[in-house]
Amino acid sequence: MDDRGFDLEGRLHDLEDADLKRTLSPVDRVAERGYFAEPSGGELPVLDSTEALVFASNNYLGLTNDQRIEDAARQAAATVGTGAGASRLVTGDTMVHQDLERQLAETKGTERALAFSSGYAANVGTITALDPDVIFSDEYNHASIIDGCRLTDAETIVYDHCDATSLRTKLERRAAFDDANEESWLIVTDSVFSMDGTVAPMADICDAAEAFGAWVMADEAHATGLYADGGGVVQAEGLGDRVDIQMGTLSKALASQGGYVAGSSDLIECLLNDARPFVFSTGLAPPAAAAASEALHVARHTDVRERLWENVAHLRDGLESMGFTVLGDSQILPVLVGDREDALALADELQDRGVIAPAIRPPTVPERTSRIRIVPIASHEQGDIVKCLEAFRGAGEEIGLL
Ligand code: PMP
Repeated sequence: MDDRGFDLEGRLHDLEDADLKRTLSPVDRVAERGYFAEPSGGELPVLDSTEALVFASNNYLGLTNDQRIEDAARQAAATVGTGAGASRLVTGDTMVHQDLERQLAETKGTERALAFSSGYAANVGTITALDPDVIFSDEYNHASIIDGCRLTDAETIVYDHCDATSLRTKLERRAAFDDANEESWLIVTDSVFSMDGTVAPMADICDAAEAFGAWVMADEAHATGLYADGGGVVQAEGLGDRVDIQMGTLSKALASQGGYVAGSSDLIECLLNDARPFVFSTGLAPPAAAAASEALHVARHTDVRERLWENVAHLRDGLESMGFTVLGDSQILPVLVGDREDALALADELQDRGVIAPAIRPPTVPERTSRIRIVPIASHEQGDIVKCLEAFRGAGEEIGLL
């Protein structure tokens, strides 16, 4: 404790003691196709035999080093500027932002869309601006949804993960309260869950919402750009007109930075007036907006999604036929290990074999469900997938999991 009452040292010690202290990665990303290379002696990273394949990023379409997207960002920087310079509502609005929003609305089949400076800001800004009376939230929803709920005066009711029956039970119970039918209710869920690879039962959630007069908000952070016509799960399941708010990030498949909300004109008008992270924050940097626009174009109009899904099928089949349990039903392939020490050992052995995929342990996931979260990306080649599978076989045998 210092003499002004702050105890940062104590907090860091506590984290260390509980084996929960996080640090930034010692490896730097240096090149295309999701490669990492170890920095040599603390110097600049080198591209040589220390290269390893990354199988853990959210760069799902492998576009973060794509020439077309780099060019779009460069051109926006040269013509519009490197920064927006102010909130969009002051002087920060540009054609680049509006073009991105037009494309997002078109992809999502909504009247309008609005870009935020991050997905986190989009979730917090939207939930607080809507300010519902009651929020029904999946137990595994992302932290930015949880924080948005905490910042409202709403009563937040948590339902079991991806369980529409649990949601209905909670809706039913709450509907018995006095004045329930005068309240505004919001159901919010990730569409694809990042640690479990599960996909929310969106159609059942929409049925429940309609039965109880609630709005539905889907966080498509891990789905945007990957499903039907470059949209998310909402598009894949034809639910565009039943989900009131489609939110997502520009930082995963769209290879950029920022977030968005797509919905009705009234929703977007309300958000641009009342969502504080939009109103009181500098507009998204124009190169980020331009990069996301170009990535969305590539996602919609090329075969890049097919390459991702081929890699996903190849890797899932290979892992399962070796005897590993692979959770979920999306592009995220969590390989269940169970024990946290085994998961750490497996991650180390994989790294020794040139595959980077960190162990995910409690408290991020429940006890006894430690896992390796494997994510193939569209730019992995067949040889990369084979190398990853060989690494799993070798590592699994080494530590006695196979
Ligand atoms: N929602 C979900 C489901 C996410 O996984 C993330 C990022 N990990 C976000 C929102 C936040 O997006 P961003 O990184 O753009 O702030």
